[in-house]
Amino acid sequence: MAKNITGNNQYLKEFNQAVVLDLIRQHKRLSRKELSVLTGLSPTACGSITRTLIKDGFLYETGQGESTGGRKPVMLELKPGSYYAVGFDIGMNELKMVIADITSEILVQRELKYSQGISTEKVIDIIQEEFFKTIETEKLSHEKFLGCGLSIPGILDRETNKIIMAPNLSWSEVNLGSRIREVLDMPIYIENEAMCSAICEHWIGECSNISNFVCINVESGIGAGIFIKESIYRGHSGSAGEIGHLIVNENGRLCGCGSKGCLETYASTRYMLTEISEKIKSGYSSDKIVQSMGTLTWDMIVNAAFKGDELCVKVLERGAVFLGFAVAYLINTLNPEAIVLGKSFTSYAPLVMDLLTKTVKERALAYPASRVKILTSNFGMSSSALGAAMIPIRKVFGK
Ligand SMILES: [Zn+2]
Repeated sequence: MAKNITGNNQYLKEFNQAVVLDLIRQHKRLSRKELSVLTGLSPTACGSITRTLIKDGFLYETGQGESTGGRKPVMLELKPGSYYAVGFDIGMNELKMVIADITSEILVQRELKYSQGISTEKVIDIIQEEFFKTIETEKLSHEKFLGCGLSIPGILDRETNKIIMAPNLSWSEVNLGSRIREVLDMPIYIENEAMCSAICEHWIGECSNISNFVCINVESGIGAGIFIKESIYRGHSGSAGEIGHLIVNENGRLCGCGSKGCLETYASTRYMLTEISEKIKSGYSSDKIVQSMGTLTWDMIVNAAFKGDELCVKVLERGAVFLGFAVAYLINTLNPEAIVLGKSFTSYAPLVMDLLTKTVKERALAYPASRVKILTSNFGMSSSALGAAMIPIRKVFGK
């Protein structure tokens, strides 16, 4: 590696810089000598790379490390607050914004509610207004932004930064990436919502040391982000992970995709909420479901289930059983080390986790099922916005 580095070879130079930065990220702090040993680069090459990275503001010198005989070495760390990235999670009813720096420190986290069926124009306006207002109040310099990640619940063309279809937003064929690039004036990366959550788990969460895992988001839809050998797996045309449309009940309910008995029609928050609403309309009553202004929300259902409401518990449990089928299919097909269940699932996980793992044990092959960790995300509803913000940051480290 070392002898190929020349000033003319920009690609190798950037590659080596990314390797150095990533080693420092993983070890928190390293001396130049340690970097030379870990990369196989000569001390001169390491010195040159670290000098550039210090000059450009990515690294800084922090005190002295342990001596191995002789002078104590100067240690290098990532410089907090030197560069930032912003992530937006565009949901059905709200926009989430996260600003983080290259050390993955979260500097800003906001939520903005809007009504269902919002237009792309309106969302672009909100993003523009919110971003510029925030960087002004937080005193963050626009030129220090590495880029913006957009988390979208849909199928995307990442080459053109275009949304092919996002059924829950009722958007299709939208050039969202290029339009947001114009208003924010920085590189834009669009990514599927469940994949953003998987990126979050891999970069700062439970799966940071796991090469093969699946992150399942339960929301108004259900999707999965898949990592294979440390890399994002998107499939042939980018739609891998659409597990919401796995058929779990052959003659089941009609799904928006045209099929019958899809996982989403039993285990997504939208369908579970609709089912409970309809039962209430046709006469089910319970003092455990506390409704205000006649509108039933997801939080009310979860609260009622924790208080032991029969209908809410039954619907959540049946959703968990079908989710367990999907987890078992994934275990049998991909043999992952971990499966992380996130987003709305985290709000009721304690009520259904035992049932879900029992279902997985019954349905999956015993050998891979005994070696998989089934986890609940620690990031709740924020994982996709956090993951979106991590996309431009990961690029700095060559990921
Ligand atoms: Zn479907």
